[in-house]
Amino acid sequence: MIKHDQLHRFLFEGHSVRGELVSVSETYQQMLENHSFPQPVQQLLGELLVATSLLTATLKFNGDITVQIQGDGPVKLAVINGNNQQQMRGTARIDGDVKTESSLRDMIGNGYMVITITPTEGERYQGVVALEGETLEECLGAYFKQSEQLPTRLFIRTGMLDGKVAAGGMLLQVLPNEHDGNEELLDHLVQLTATIKGEELFTLDVEEILHRLYHEEDVTLYEPQQVAFRCTCSRQRCIDTLMTLPEADLQEILHSDGKIDMGCEFCGKHYVFDENDVSEIKATKTAQLH
Ligand SMILES: [Zn+2]
Repeated sequence: MIKHDQLHRFLFEGHSVRGELVSVSETYQQMLENHSFPQPVQQLLGELLVATSLLTATLKFNGDITVQIQGDGPVKLAVINGNNQQQMRGTARIDGDVKTESSLRDMIGNGYMVITITPTEGERYQGVVALEGETLEECLGAYFKQSEQLPTRLFIRTGMLDGKVAAGGMLLQVLPNEHDGNEELLDHLVQLTATIKGEELFTLDVEEILHRLYHEEDVTLYEPQQVAFRCTCSRQRCIDTLMTLPEADLQEILHSDGKIDMGCEFCGKHYVFDENDVSEIKATKTAQLH
């Protein structure tokens, strides 16, 4: 029985190279459920989801990673946000016509990719790379080169499993302080890993995949981590946002709509505040200030 929506970590013994493998189906489907995105956008979000899951798993601390692509094409924004517990959410903003068979470039136009790493404690890091590659894999490769991080390669596959969307991927990374002489070895492992097919990622268990790819290597596999769709929106977060808005703006919305309706872009949930709610929030705020 294949377990989906799990992130696996492994290590090439004696080689100072680590790896990750992830396959997502339910997480991916739930993420798309609240939206009606065209197929190429669904695929792009699947690729971003896999990339974010793999990148999040490289974090050495608690925190979250947001991977977003922005541009001047019909897809203005595609974004995935995930944390070290592998809780993922994502969405896209579309303005215009996305044709079937659209490439990354067709969808995004001239754009860039922003990767934001936010530790629970400590400083935020942001890396920006122009969207010059043909595929997300290539763009991520450019990001790693530019940001002078550890030599890292990602492999991303999307497709269908039992009539539903599925995505998966792998990551290889040279361990810190052991760069020297490992580039060649990484190249060798990269060649092996590049042969992975989406179907294999979606239908085979991890031991089988590792054996198929690296049967001559000594690989240690660690306990898997569950990947899940989870949105971090809440009524309190909406209240925090409301409190930052000018009083006149709030009154104007209340006056014209009778309520303030805040929809979550990620999960589609609505948080509604009427006049009483707003006065109560303001009263609490005033009480806290004094
Ligand atoms: Zn939400």
